Amino acid sequence: MPSPDWAPSRLRMLDGRRLAVRHVWCVGQNYAEHAREMGRDPERCEPVFFSKPAAALVQQAEIEYPPQTRELHHEVELVVLLARGGRDLSPEQAAAGVFGYAVGCDLTRRDVQARAKAAGMPWALAKGFDQSGPVGEFVGADQWRVQPDRVIELAVNGRTRQSAVLGDLIWTVPELLARLSREVTLRPFDAVFTGTPAGVAALVPGDRVEARIEGLPSLEFLVKPGA
Ligand code: MN
Repeated sequence: MPSPDWAPSRLRMLDGRRLAVRHVWCVGQNYAEHAREMGRDPERCEPVFFSKPAAALVQQAEIEYPPQTRELHHEVELVVLLARGGRDLSPEQAAAGVFGYAVGCDLTRRDVQARAKAAGMPWALAKGFDQSGPVGEFVGADQWRVQPDRVIELAVNGRTRQSAVLGDLIWTVPELLARLSREVTLRPFDAVFTGTPAGVAALVPGDRVEARIEGLPSLEFLVKPGA
């Protein structure tokens, strides 16, 4: 594991180690049903990449409802952490560079995103705001693997809203990393949110969110009122 001495190591792994994430890459619409619910044809989807600030990744019991929105959406996602990166990787090279995995939630100000899209403007702040990337504890790639039958799901106040299996990913993790490495140089301690299944919906203060992927530590947080 490369030394994360460039930044405070503040994210927990299941085994007690701490790590810092360098950059957070995300992909949009990587599950066919979710692409359809967002009004796109999954057959013709090239992956859409975007970023969040590394500081947006948090592991805390309470998430503050963000400002400038009336429509905060949950998106449960498999998060991949890299030990090695590079440019123009093959899927095999990319797969060999995976350090570990966690459950994440790509919190989204959907109204801000919709207004930006309609105006032909960038939607960076719809995705990259304070505490917009809660993540569970990371588990090493030697402890857990992506398998197509593993369930990914999210429940709000005990009611399931999103449920799929990892086999529903349009771009598999190695394919996604390889494709992303054609756009940017991937580096150790980059984290990649791999997309969300259908069922995204709004959260309100007081909601208790539970996000799970079979075999990984679950992610739980309470949405508390904004400042
Ligand atoms: Mn997402």
